[in-house]
Formats: sequence, C-alpha cells, structure tokens
Amino acid sequence: MTAREAAGGDAAHAGQGAMKPLAVFGGTFDPVHIGHLSVAWEAAELLDAEVRLMPASVPPHRPPPIASAAQRVAMLRAALRGQSRLTLDTRELSRHGPSYTVDTLRELRGEQGERPLLLLLGADAFAGLPSWHRWRELFELAHIGVFGRPGVAPLPAGELATEIAGRRAEALAAVKTRPAGLVVELAVTPLEISATRIRQLLAAGRDPRYLLPEGLFEDAGLLRPYRGSTA
Ligand code: ATP
Repeated sequence: MTAREAAGGDAAHAGQGAMKPLAVFGGTFDPVHIGHLSVAWEAAELLDAEVRLMPASVPPHRPPPIASAAQRVAMLRAALRGQSRLTLDTRELSRHGPSYTVDTLRELRGEQGERPLLLLLGADAFAGLPSWHRWRELFELAHIGVFGRPGVAPLPAGELATEIAGRRAEALAAVKTRPAGLVVELAVTPLEISATRIRQLLAAGRDPRYLLPEGLFEDAGLLRPYRGSTA
C-alpha cells in the first residue's frame, strides 16, 4: 500500500474545492466483481459524484474473507485500471481491529468539511443497518444511497423504516444541498452477481470470466486464493 493510499486513497486529492459529492462504497470485495463495479459506476453517474471503493479489513458483520487484505487490494487495483471515475481508498485496512463505518465517515467528515458525503449500500446491506455499530450516527455524517439488489425488498421495515421516514429524498440532486442526513434510492441496472457465487465457482474449478473484471484474469495469481477453497 502506498502512503498516499493509506492517507485516503488514490482519490485523496481528486475533486477538492468542488462540491461534487464524495460517495463511499465499502465492502469485503472478496473478490470485487462486475456487480460492484457496475453499480458503483452508475452511482457515480447518477449522483455526479466521486466514488471510492473502500475494502474492509476485519468485517464486523461476517466471517473473515478468503483473500487477505493485500490480495483484495491487488484485485481492486487490477479491476479499476484504465478509468478514473472509481478510485480506491484503503484507509480501513490500516486500522487495527474491526473497521466501523461510523469511524470511517467521521474521519472523512473531518477531512472534507461541508462537502456532501454519501454511503453507498446495496439493499441487503441497508436492511441490516440496525445491527451496525452506532448506526443512527451514520445519518449525521453522510447521506445514504441505496441500490436495489435482485431478490431483496427495496424498502426496509421496523426501526430502520421509522428512522428514515423523514429522510427520504426523491430528487438525487437534494444530496448536493446539504452535507448529510438524506436517504436516496439509486435506480441502477440490477445484476444478480455475488462474491459468494463467484467463490463457489472458482472453488469448483470453473472460470467465471464475464462475472469478474478482465484485469483479474491478467495475473494468474490474483484468483489463486479461491481455487480449491471451501468457499
Ligand atoms: P458476498 O457474496 O461475499 O456477501 P457481495 O457480492 O455481497 O459479497 P460485498 O463485498 O459483501 O459483496 O458487498 C459490498 C457492497 O456491495 C454491499 O453494499 C452489497 O450490497 C453491494 N453489492 C454487492 N453485489 C451487488 C450487486 N450485484 N448489486 C448491487 N449491490 C451489490
């Protein structure tokens, strides 16, 4: 990891001075796949935002990844090659212990001043928000952009529904009018691709060529962690 990435990624110096929103798309990226890249790209277009992919180190909500942090970063770098709209921010990997989104957003808020920040989440991740560490504080720090995911109900129920009732904004441009606090739905192209399925295919010796970005096949070592694993 370069010092620049550790300090906030390839994106650390992009977009400064403008009020272009900064959107963060966190995940395990074990491995990064076309579903991630496609929704992140469309979100960047829809919101006219800078989008950073932010790999999590020790995900608080799930079993540890198969690939190491360094391997996941190498795959992300390979996947993001050749474009500049989506960038990589590796700050969570240099933190000890679980990486809580609330801490990451607080750090970003300190760096970005009043710039609109967004947390991008798939509908499945959004539905699980109330189990996240200090989840209500997330709305003080960022807007939340939710994309539909095939097979997942788009609208939440229970305490999450209550929390977001007064926060929903229909017009995406609303996120540029304030730094945080709104929830917007992002109408992206639904792609039924998951890292779980890809790990299963790779473990079974298959070659899921068009579910993964081309760059991941250019270096035979990148997908090795999944070959013959029990994922
Ligand atoms: P896994 O199958 O291992 O759970 P995943 O494919 O869901 O992995 P993650 O790294 O866990 O990927 O997801 C990071 C974020 O990407 C989450 O917010 C998740 O909802 C979102 N996401 C992943 N795949 C898609 C997809 N195909 N369409 C929309 N959102 C997605």
